[in-house]
Amino acid sequence: MKVVIIGGVAAGMSAASKIRRLSAETQITVYEKGGFLSYGACGLPYYVGGYNDDYRKMIARTREAFEAMGIQTYLRHEATSVNPEKKQVAVKDLESGREFTDTYDKLMIAVGADAVMPPFPGKDLLGIHPLKSLEDGIFLKEFGKMEKVKNVVIVGGGYIGVECAEAFLHMGKNVRMIETASRILAPFDEDIGVLAQEELKLQGVMLHTGERVEAFQGDGLYVSHVKTDKALYEADLVVVAAGIRPSTGFLKGTGIKMGKNGALMVDREMRTSIPDIYAAGDCILVYNEIMEEDSYQALGTVANKCGRIAGTNIAGGHEAFIGALGSAAIKVCNLELGRTGMGEEDARRLKVDYKTVLVKANDHPAYYPDPTPITIKLIYENGTKRLLGAQTCGEKGAVLRVDVFAVAIHAKMTTAELGMTDLIYAPPFAGVWDAIQIACNAAK
Ligand SMILES: Cc1cc2nc3c(=O)[nH]c(=O)nc-3n(C[C@H](O)[C@H](O)[C@H](O)COP(=O)(O)OP(=O)(O)OC[C@H]3O[C@@H](n4cnc5c(N)ncnc54)[C@H](O)[C@@H]3O)c2cc1C
Repeated sequence: MKVVIIGGVAAGMSAASKIRRLSAETQITVYEKGGFLSYGACGLPYYVGGYNDDYRKMIARTREAFEAMGIQTYLRHEATSVNPEKKQVAVKDLESGREFTDTYDKLMIAVGADAVMPPFPGKDLLGIHPLKSLEDGIFLKEFGKMEKVKNVVIVGGGYIGVECAEAFLHMGKNVRMIETASRILAPFDEDIGVLAQEELKLQGVMLHTGERVEAFQGDGLYVSHVKTDKALYEADLVVVAAGIRPSTGFLKGTGIKMGKNGALMVDREMRTSIPDIYAAGDCILVYNEIMEEDSYQALGTVANKCGRIAGTNIAGGHEAFIGALGSAAIKVCNLELGRTGMGEEDARRLKVDYKTVLVKANDHPAYYPDPTPITIKLIYENGTKRLLGAQTCGEKGAVLRVDVFAVAIHAKMTTAELGMTDLIYAPPFAGVWDAIQIACNAAK
């Protein structure tokens, strides 16, 4: 059997590795349009910010290691179209310009998503860049090191924008963030997200919410200013973190079913609507188990799991994805924030009869040094008290508690059950009633 994989990072190489583990004979070919394989994009902000100065540390497995496993890899090779009837992929070698077709028995689409660059006038000036790929990270780090780069403007207050703000603060830059919406970090409810906003401001980020970027201005080649609907700001470097869009444009006309944002629709075994074509990662819609609907979850956690599942099934298995919960975490300077399951907006949209509780409890008792408060918000079904969502924020111990809530939501537990579950207690780690249980037992 011959498998062609398009896209060689999280989902693509998870699938390639799994297929190889299950089948020594399968011929596996990977086409990747970028210059790197199998890296942890999640480490990029920390590389840019100087927490790690060796990008090779982000590479999970080298090209040589894949080749040694008998996986043929082609870098700087872009798939330009797919013909499902002939089972062919058209490929362009981006270095030589050579175009050719390859054939497959099974095809895996793992092309991820592209950073959205709104059509602002001046967007092509030097020093305006997204942070999506390893190449972007290398560019931003080197550009940011230049003496003349003092004022950094981040466009967009999502996960990547916030991580970039922290990265450039760490590099000693003046950081300004501009977000069109009335608040940053939309996956969090306002009462938790506001804590991140306060922390960014406390650490010196000039935060503008409810403000729209209209254009970039330059002095010659380089960007010099960002113009918004309210003001003109100096900018030596602009990071555009205004969202992502699945990189599926080249599949138009194949008949593969897509959602509104261009993400591919797959079943729980990662099969697309066309036989022998599988997909996973940031280019698909995945089943969300608490919302019981397909949703777009562009997260490394989901990409790795779904890529591996696709690999199993391409190799002849029948593994199904149990579903995502939107579990995610972010460090915002001295704070950590985590979330899982439904937020209030999700619950309202789905017309769920829900209640919430918000508590503040210490990570461990005051009779052991340095207790710090954790804010926990729970969303639960009115009446049954089934847990639907949880969000946390604190200086330490906040984010990993979200994992407990994620498991509880998956297991359909109620707040009453989790409030009495046998969690650990010892003064250096947690109270006799952990913050998780204090929150659960406050749910009425
Ligand atoms: C800065 C940053 C921080 C992040 N932090 C986190 C985090 O903390 N936690 C978390 O869970 N997730 C995080 N993510 C998200 C996570 O990195 C992605 O969900 C994950 O990389 C998606 O994997 P993928 O394989 O679907 O897509 P990608 O990793 O985007 O890989 C797709 C690859 O396909 C290639 N490709 C696209 N089109 C073609 C084509 N036509 N032909 C050939 N190749 C093609 C692209 O060049 C790309 O290399 C972060 C992402 C970024 C950018």
